Amino acid sequence: MSNHAGRNSATDSDAEAETTRKVAAICTTCGKAYASEQRGDGTVRPIGQRTGCECGETSFEIVDSTETGFDD
Ligand SMILES: [Zn+2]
Repeated sequence: MSNHAGRNSATDSDAEAETTRKVAAICTTCGKAYASEQRGDGTVRPIGQRTGCECGETSFEIVDSTETGFDD
């Protein structure tokens, strides 16, 4: 993770970039916020959390669609 400045593409896959967008979402159970991605079918999944929220919930509610990095 030392050369991120040299790569300014936010996505690893062009095909996926067409159907996903970055959003901010919160867990519908515990309210924890995650930088997430919304897929073309409407599914919201926290980035880097394939299993969903740490509380076990897999349903998320979008709170902000701004394309920006989370800072925490
Ligand atoms: Zn949760």
